[in-house]
Amino acid sequence: MASISRLPEYSDRWRHSLHWQPDAYQQASFQALYEAILEGNRQLNLTRLTAADDFWEKHVWDSLSGVVPWLGQEPTVQELALAPGHRVIDIGTGAGFPGLPVAIACPTWPITLLDSTRKKIAWLAGVSQDLGLTNVTTITERAETLGHHPDHRQAYDLALVRAVGSVATCAEYALPLLAQGGVAVLYRGQWTVAEQEQLQTVATRLGGHLIQLRPWRTPLSHSVRHCVYLLKDRDTPHTYPRAVGLPAKFPLA
Ligand code: SAM
Repeated sequence: MASISRLPEYSDRWRHSLHWQPDAYQQASFQALYEAILEGNRQLNLTRLTAADDFWEKHVWDSLSGVVPWLGQEPTVQELALAPGHRVIDIGTGAGFPGLPVAIACPTWPITLLDSTRKKIAWLAGVSQDLGLTNVTTITERAETLGHHPDHRQAYDLALVRAVGSVATCAEYALPLLAQGGVAVLYRGQWTVAEQEQLQTVATRLGGHLIQLRPWRTPLSHSVRHCVYLLKDRDTPHTYPRAVGLPAKFPLA
């Protein structure tokens, strides 16, 4: 079995790029997650990234890059400060990214993994239990539906969204679920001025605004990444999110 997190050269890469390093227990948890994904891939189409390096870089490192403002010390941008006991949701988590690596790295954060695919959520519930991640809760639901549920609407302080749709679609899923003062992290690859302008307009309609954009290069393949941070500063109008399917089919502009 290939090892993802015990390779000695990785410890420098954690430190240099994330300003954070896992302890021995967390390293073992990342390794156990890798093994669970390889096993789960036999029944479910969880991920095509199965080589150890790819898994570490494109799943573990990439997931943690979005929470760097909170991993080590206090956030450098004051508006990114999170409420104590903050609740986190990973929208469209798939095989648990970015939510599971974040749950391992930040064991005191209560993290909800949301996906509309029942099989993936059933698998994630089992893996979270096997890894002893008592801070993880799983929900099978559409983001458009959960966004109107009284227990979940405007209930989260941090919403993570990776590879779920266009920026406008992701913003429409995330902002209704955030409490005022909460932050949405949109994990993107390339980033364009047009996308940024569209997102500014859309975020305003949904009760938020863009507060930070962090460009990254991944540490092994040097691929381009951008983490986009939106602050929720007003209530989201109750017309959002729109009915199931509409945010993806007709993204706000
Ligand atoms: N976030 C993961 C990652 O980066 O590896 C998974 C990305 S996968 C391409 C997109 C996932 O989002 C799928 O598992 C899909 O079921 C889920 N999804 C898409 N639209 C959704 C919605 N409206 N509500 C909940 N989950 C959704």
